[in-house]
Amino acid sequence: MIDFSGIKIAVDFDGTIVEHQYPEIGKEKLFAFQTLKELEKRGARLIMWTFRTGKELDDAVEYCRKNGIEFYAVNKNYPEEIFDETVSRKIDADIYIDDKNLGGFPGWSGVWQILNPFEIEQREAERRLAAKRKNILKRLLALLKGTDV
Ligand SMILES: [Mg+2]
Repeated sequence: MIDFSGIKIAVDFDGTIVEHQYPEIGKEKLFAFQTLKELEKRGARLIMWTFRTGKELDDAVEYCRKNGIEFYAVNKNYPEEIFDETVSRKIDADIYIDDKNLGGFPGWSGVWQILNPFEIEQREAERRLAAKRKNILKRLLALLKGTDV
């Protein structure tokens, strides 16, 4: 399991967490909250990074909260940051997840696979090993019973 402790992930809202329906809130994109929760559980620091401001921003933050995601910061590098001309507009993050990524948005299962490249192979290898063990056990039991498989 990959540890994301201290990794800052900036996440866009419209078109990324939800379908693009700005200024309304679109439908959740498949696996969005599930993926974000798993990243948070593994130590990632999630930052909402969106064009939204004011009431539309509050609505988006509240929507995410209702779906179990409390962002570490919203349009800021850290919660206490006060934005002025001395602060860059660009959020300092290690990873940016945005539907306007070069190459397009891979979808949340795609995001998960990119961030955890070996997890699927590992799971498959574990499944094969478990099946092999089960088979050996079955043959052993058949041998003990005096029957053959
Ligand atoms: Mg967007």
